[in-house]
Amino acid sequence: MIPACGVAAAFPAVFVRAASGADDRLQKGMVSFTFDDGIVSAHQTAFPVLKSRGQAATAAIVAGKIGANDDYMNARQLRELERNGWEIASHGLTHTRPTQIPLTFEQEPMPACKRAW
Ligand SMILES: [Zn+2]
Repeated sequence: MIPACGVAAAFPAVFVRAASGADDRLQKGMVSFTFDDGIVSAHQTAFPVLKSRGQAATAAIVAGKIGANDDYMNARQLRELERNGWEIASHGLTHTRPTQIPLTFEQEPMPACKRAW
């Protein structure tokens, strides 16, 4: 529950499972907090605010960008989010736009994303 708003939050996976009837935790008005690409502001700005309210979120990480420069979270920051209940999701290895992926190109390998941090 997010006290200031009076709404409950859930990880995106709950919404996906609920759509197929596999999860009954979905409530009307629920929201999900998802931060895209592993940008460091998710750790520096959003994390402390959400933590102070007892709320976790999802960080969708581009595995190939972890710690690439000061704009992206590093492995230590990701592990801190995970220890605090955040869901760390894969947003691909390279963030290739779907329109730039050749039709014959296979999906980026998940093991490579998982090894990244
Ligand atoms: Zn993205």
